[in-house]
Amino acid sequence: MYPVDSLKYDEGGKCVQDLTRRRAKKIFLVSWTDNTDLSWTEHFNPVHITYDVEEEDTEYHKRMIEHSSSPIPALNPSLLPAYAASTPQEYLVRISCKGKCSTTRWAKLSAPYPGEVALQQAQLGQFRARCLKCGYEATDISNWSR
Ligand SMILES: [Zn+2]
Repeated sequence: MYPVDSLKYDEGGKCVQDLTRRRAKKIFLVSWTDNTDLSWTEHFNPVHITYDVEEEDTEYHKRMIEHSSSPIPALNPSLLPAYAASTPQEYLVRISCKGKCSTTRWAKLSAPYPGEVALQQAQLGQFRARCLKCGYEATDISNWSR
């Protein structure tokens, strides 16, 4: 299960129990963060394996830190459709609209766009995005982009 970070206590437990019922021999719960509360996994008696990229590949770790703190590139206004033009740029994000549109749409974020890395590390429900075409409200951060 990846990224396990996006699952809360109830959802995570249900997923693991479902996999167990399907007779999975091994279940891997994979997280790419070290600041998420994953205590819900403890009652499954997991074997913990930590890959510390800072120790294993210092250069890669440095590049990721630089990438995550780099300024957010501006959007080209001429590439934005008319329905998105009146929304302040810092609130714009592209979502896979599962409402009436059923396609990729520009949406308005509930908070200014924090950057790709910060967005992917956000807790489920921390950000919402409302489709600017049909009003569908998305919380599934994993398929959002700029
Ligand atoms: Zn829509």
